Amino acid sequence: MRLEFSHCGIDMIQLIRGFKDILPGEVELWQKIERVARELFEDFGYREIRIPIMERTELFKRSIGEDTDIVEKEMYTFPDRKGDLVTLRPEATASICRAFIQHKLYSQDPVQKYYMIGPMFRRERPQKGRYRQFYQIDAEIFGVQSGLADVQLIFLLVTLCKRLNLADVRAHINSLGCPRCRPAFKKALTDYLVSIEGDLCPDCIRRRNRNPLRVLDCKVPKCREALIGAPSLQDHLCEGCRIDFDLVMDSLNRLGVSFVIDKQLVRGLDYYTRTAFEIQTTSLGAQSAVAGGGRYDNLVKELGGPDIPATGFAIGFDRLAELVALNSRELIQVPDVFVAALGADSQKSAFEWVCELGTGGIRVEMDYGNKSLKSQMKRADRLGARYVLIVGDDELKSGSAALRNMATKEQVSVSLDNLVDNIRSQLETTNS
Ligand code: ATP
Ligand code: MG
Repeated sequence: MRLEFSHCGIDMIQLIRGFKDILPGEVELWQKIERVARELFEDFGYREIRIPIMERTELFKRSIGEDTDIVEKEMYTFPDRKGDLVTLRPEATASICRAFIQHKLYSQDPVQKYYMIGPMFRRERPQKGRYRQFYQIDAEIFGVQSGLADVQLIFLLVTLCKRLNLADVRAHINSLGCPRCRPAFKKALTDYLVSIEGDLCPDCIRRRNRNPLRVLDCKVPKCREALIGAPSLQDHLCEGCRIDFDLVMDSLNRLGVSFVIDKQLVRGLDYYTRTAFEIQTTSLGAQSAVAGGGRYDNLVKELGGPDIPATGFAIGFDRLAELVALNSRELIQVPDVFVAALGADSQKSAFEWVCELGTGGIRVEMDYGNKSLKSQMKRADRLGARYVLIVGDDELKSGSAALRNMATKEQVSVSLDNLVDNIRSQLETTNS
């Protein structure tokens, strides 16, 4: 976007609406969440998979469904230079399934567990907690028919929230049935939708016959109100789905995971079967879903793969980060040591020490200009450095320099030989 606003008369280019920068200061929180998530997934045997940002449009149309908000209104789709239709990924599951099928990953071990972290793109109306480029943390299990796989995913979500000190989160679950029990439910739902037609938005009326389940996911308040009395899938489950959902509820209870059965929860994508779930919060206003997922037993087959059941979830990273930020102090990393060098020779040595200290795992900063000691001390203070190493030509000659503790203002002399070890032992004294 080009704007009139300018310094010195040059047009300033701003970022695209609904896109955002994650700046230093905030990014530390994202790194922390990512670390906690990775560790948890890897302890449970999930392996990282990285998939492309862009896929053939057909992949998303076939998997997510033609009548969904995502495919109808939200995808960034365009012809590439040869005219092939491509789409910036709006979610990860379709691509992970494509990779699973294309590389025959099932041939290594029938059970495969993956996670992935990365950006997604949906052209929605931007608002708090809703962006056009947003991030997801995604996990998928292939090859397990039992509802226990869904329980493990819900347990991982709840555990992740606990590890991030989030109290205000709740698991919502529902069963969406299977191709065996859904036709009878669809019939009952369609009859109900006819009876409330006057209260439905044009999207819902259009989708009513083609894909009535989609209507249950409508976000328009008037539609939601009219749908309160809608029939519930819970009352139409076949025996297999009923037994599976009972297992899910019983196992969650045994693990001490509290949950609500939410009959309106149908999720915004067509591929779900049986258990669907969300993690919701009341702390983020209208954007209450922090994560969502569920079972998709037929998708691998529908995309041309073998008949392999699967289940998975996606966490809204942006919303999770907002929630964690509400609950934690700043996470800015401060330098352990600021090297304040005076004079050309000291500057050169300081530059080398900074490289050695940094590679030795000590967070380090220096001033690269030829500033006065006073201005270097000021900058060290502003950065929150724990120590400042003060080196001038005299110190270089004598082979030792002053290390100043910025909190206590105490100074000790450290030898410049073995500097990394000497500083490390000083840091350890203050840490203990
Ligand atoms: P919502 O109901 O909020 O539109 P959704 O059902 O479309 O969510 P999913 O496709 O299930 O979302 O994606 C999983 C998670 O990704 C959501 O629970 C949410 O936290 C996050 N998410 C989805 N769309 C956006 C967006 N535009 N901006 C930020 N986060 C999003
Ligand atoms: Mg949505």
